[in-house]
Amino acid sequence: MALPIAHSAVAFGIIRSRDRLVLAGAVFLSILPDLDFILVWGFGLPIQVYHRTFSHSILFSLALALLWRSFCPFRLRTLSFMPVLLILLSHGAIDMLCTSDAADHGVMLFWPASSYRAGVPVLVPVYLLVANSPFSPEGALRFLFLESFMAWPLWRFTRIVREGLLAMAARHWDSKAAVQLKE
Ligand SMILES: [Zn+2]
Repeated sequence: MALPIAHSAVAFGIIRSRDRLVLAGAVFLSILPDLDFILVWGFGLPIQVYHRTFSHSILFSLALALLWRSFCPFRLRTLSFMPVLLILLSHGAIDMLCTSDAADHGVMLFWPASSYRAGVPVLVPVYLLVANSPFSPEGALRFLFLESFMAWPLWRFTRIVREGLLAMAARHWDSKAAVQLKE
């Protein structure tokens, strides 16, 4: 299970703003899907049904990104629809890399159409080096310690992917413009 440092590092890789309020908004959005723990820990609802289900789905991310665009306060509007959507989707992506048992704890990306839980546990061995679980004070501290070392590589990797995608989009747009010019 990834903790806020890993999620925030990826969010900071997605956006370029240095506005503290915007950065705080990005951190909030990056961990927002895990507020489903309120239902589990606060209301005693079953973790299998309410964690990493609706709140980690593509549909939920889309709906929330649209709501954010419509209702967020003025300075936070610099976080536009696409970065907000990518930050929310990145949460599920990181969780997928950290799920020890995809069948039980994977991410329901396609909720409500499918209850399939997706997981690609490539980061699990790294987390297991420091602790078996974050659900104890010592385990949480160990995970946070590990993630403080993972933060820069995660941020850098996200930034490289972001720049690559932007370059591809620019090339695609340019080629379209060239076709239009030729026409
Ligand atoms: Zn999560």
